[in-house]
Amino acid sequence: MSVNCTDCGGIIEIPENAEVDEIIECPDCGLEYVVVEMEHGLLSLKELALKGEDWGE
Ligand SMILES: [Zn+2]
Repeated sequence: MSVNCTDCGGIIEIPENAEVDEIIECPDCGLEYVVVEMEHGLLSLKELALKGEDWGE
């Protein structure tokens, strides 16, 4: 699975064994993302630079 970097548009691969809260860097620009779980157990990436208003606790 892969997503596009929101900053440079590069492709970031999400490893199959990635875990929620794992940090993954964009290989092109180095922007850091955190692995988040979406609906249906799918994994996605959220830009780490955002000052997490969204963390719940
Ligand atoms: Zn990037």
